[in-house]
Amino acid sequence: MQAGTVHIIGAGVARLAAGVFLAREGRAVRIYETSPNAGGRCRSFHDAVLGREIDNGSHLLLGANREAMRLIRLLEGEDRFWKLEDGLPFCDLRDGERWRLPPSGGFGKIMASVPGGGGGMGLVKLLLAGRNATVASCFPAEDNRYIRLWEPLAVSILNTPAARASAASFRRVLGLLWRAEREGMAAFVPKQSWNDALIAPMVEAIRARGGELQFSRRIRAMVIEGGRVTTLRTAEGDIMVASGDTVILATPPHVATMLLPGLEVPQDYAPIVNVHFAVSSPESRSDSRAIHREAGMDAPRVRCVNSGHDVLGIIGGAAHFLFFREGLISATTSAAYALAEEEDEAIAAKIWGEVRQVCHPERSEGSHAVGDPSPLAQDDIPPYRVIKEKRATFACTPENLTRRPGTRTTCANLFLAGDYTDTGLPATIEGAVVSALRAVAGVSGKCK
Ligand SMILES: Cc1cc2nc3c(=O)[nH]c(=O)nc-3n(C[C@H](O)[C@H](O)[C@H](O)COP(=O)(O)OP(=O)(O)OC[C@H]3O[C@@H](n4cnc5c(N)ncnc54)[C@H](O)[C@@H]3O)c2cc1C
Repeated sequence: MQAGTVHIIGAGVARLAAGVFLAREGRAVRIYETSPNAGGRCRSFHDAVLGREIDNGSHLLLGANREAMRLIRLLEGEDRFWKLEDGLPFCDLRDGERWRLPPSGGFGKIMASVPGGGGGMGLVKLLLAGRNATVASCFPAEDNRYIRLWEPLAVSILNTPAARASAASFRRVLGLLWRAEREGMAAFVPKQSWNDALIAPMVEAIRARGGELQFSRRIRAMVIEGGRVTTLRTAEGDIMVASGDTVILATPPHVATMLLPGLEVPQDYAPIVNVHFAVSSPESRSDSRAIHREAGMDAPRVRCVNSGHDVLGIIGGAAHFLFFREGLISATTSAAYALAEEEDEAIAAKIWGEVRQVCHPERSEGSHAVGDPSPLAQDDIPPYRVIKEKRATFACTPENLTRRPGTRTTCANLFLAGDYTDTGLPATIEGAVVSALRAVAGVSGKCK
């Protein structure tokens, strides 16, 4: 075991990933987490109303998320994910048109897969756009491929409305997708939950190497003396940071700036709204995929080959993506400023209407076959849970990008990690893992 404990504040993806990497290097790791569970913004919990475990948000990874995928392989966790071999299916609510983005083949193939023309000139403009340009400023608003491809990709990846989203950031993501050797657009979703697929395996890996996780332990303040952190203050007493110890501050940005006054961080956040509908009890296997099939959705065009879990992108609706899992249909809306202000009942009714429309177009007016057991054939909304994450991520605007701090701080033994740090990536699982790798390099004295 190398000398010096690494104290990690927070147990989100970035902190746990840092814990995994450090524990593998033989460092003593101690993680303090304010909530009773790990996962942060990528957490799962048992929902009493739905009677099952759900994720706070239906996260999606892409093949191009290289470091996140590498971490999953390190944890031997590939089997806990479904891979959407056939790419991402989409449906346009305005005219019912359906298509599928291929998992690989470059932008030519991706653009060609979207019905209707346009998009080419806007893409050139995006490639040449300056630091203050927004995604929307690069494309004509009525351009078909902008509406069906570039705008939805930008909004869901950057979690920011295209009119405010940084063109430079989107260009960077497209560059990563472009350079991904194979299947950069292949989507990965957990078979059960994010806790099962990623969070619990990270916790186990840390504990297996002697790492310690202390839950319900909020760090209230850090004492800084002589240019280094010497004490972490908690309600239960002080934690001494010995001379060879280091600290990774891995809280969300609004907490980081409270613990380290003067730290500049992105200022405004963008919400994400998720609605989970329980379409059958977990015991019964009459599941959401049956609905998928019933609606003709498992025609080869729109079905992923190997999974009991499908994803469908939606254009022209309040929902942006639907995730189908056994007994559960979950809808995600990114940059959901307006939706997040609505009452839960109104949100659920609106989104359920869209689910019925895409899964059962001919029955969306309420006419359905006698004896049809599908919840889609009923006007009643099935049991649901609305989760509004008002601070889901920082808004990826040109102004906010200039406020992202680096890994190093003014304290010699303090490093930052988290999706808001200056990784060059949007606030995503990949960004969180990259930030962890940088903090680990800092702790190991390799930070540039
Ligand atoms: C609804 C939703 C959907 C998303 N979808 C996707 C997606 O599809 N793909 C994708 O890649 N990303 C997605 N993201 C983004 C992704 O979840 C985040 O980028 C990632 O989880 C951030 O991890 P983090 O470790 O940086 O921060 P966090 O998860 O915020 O972790 C910070 C931790 O610090 C703890 N903490 C706070 N204060 C203290 C304190 N004083 N003392 C101790 N602990 C403290 C918190 O409780 C938390 O556990 C989504 C996010 C949300 C909310």
